Amino acid sequence: VFDVLIVGGGPAGAAAAIYAARKGIKTGVVADRFGGQVLDTLAIENFVSVKETDGPKFAVALEQHVKDYEVDIMNTQRAVKLVPGKVSEIHTASGAVLKGKSVIISTGARWREINVPGEKEYRNHGVAYCPHCDGPLFKGKRVAVIGGGNSGVEAAIDLAGLVEHVTLIEFGAELRADAVLQRKLHSLKNVKVIVSAQTTEIHGDGKKVNALSYTDRNSGESRKVELEGVFVQIGLVPNTEWLKGAIELSRHGEIVVDARGQTSVPGVFAAGDVTTVPYKQIVIAVGEGAKASLAAFDHLIRSSDD
Ligand code: FAD
Repeated sequence: VFDVLIVGGGPAGAAAAIYAARKGIKTGVVADRFGGQVLDTLAIENFVSVKETDGPKFAVALEQHVKDYEVDIMNTQRAVKLVPGKVSEIHTASGAVLKGKSVIISTGARWREINVPGEKEYRNHGVAYCPHCDGPLFKGKRVAVIGGGNSGVEAAIDLAGLVEHVTLIEFGAELRADAVLQRKLHSLKNVKVIVSAQTTEIHGDGKKVNALSYTDRNSGESRKVELEGVFVQIGLVPNTEWLKGAIELSRHGEIVVDARGQTSVPGVFAAGDVTTVPYKQIVIAVGEGAKASLAAFDHLIRSSDD
């Protein structure tokens, strides 16, 4: 039985593991893919105190730091079920049952993809998902934002201050963002909004993105926009499908946590992109992981009777 059993090996899980292990308690991490989303990231320039690194390097550093401590890392293991209790159980796809006196869930999230030709090929070469992360890479260039909900419109406003021109592309007949955001968007001179537009392809020269095609859903005509970047903003999906019914989730599927990372289930904590904590960033996930781990330790010293 682990004192702290962490599910997820991204920045949040790694931070939680280090903080738990430093308390000298039995710590385990079960992860589908240790490293998490940073494995898919190219440049990282906003992890405070590290001016510049890349995702794979950062993931290696995370793992090395965790391995400095006595942490049982169970990689390439997918959790499929949580059974809460005084000792909670995590069931894995391979049939194992892991037990923890406390559990920290840090299974992260994934960006919803538009699934058009060019998206995968040019990911990190013009196709981006995170304006806070990659916006500055497009300084002075032309970009499109796909998605007219709150995140798409916020991204367009954010990017308009950095790039030369933003084309916002929305599938529906109108934007779905809050009115105040739409007003702000429409006040910006270097933003063009196109509604009723279905993105059909992201083009490139083999190395980088150079255009985007869409179909005008009213006329059926195909149109092409020349640009250097495409930000896909059609939703961030938390990896919580396996938790439905076991724990309180928000209407977006995020785990509801309080200021200490406590979930609706006593002894079960959560941290990082998988939770309701806003702004999905590495530096935030790391802080939340540390916090959830300290809260789990607090829980253990208050509930231990052995
Ligand atoms: P994740 O990194 O998503 O890690 C989740 C972990 O849980 C993984 O180990 C995963 O395999 C595991 N897991 C998931 N489901 C299960 C399961 N059922 N069972 C077991 N394990 C499971 N942020 C920045 O701050 N700066 C950047 O420059 C930046 N660039 C980005 C670029 C890209 C392309 C992407 C996709 C994201 C970027 N981000 C960036 C966001 C950042 O990567 C995330 O905020 C951060 O990784 C969140 O950490 P996390 O630990 O909460 O989750």
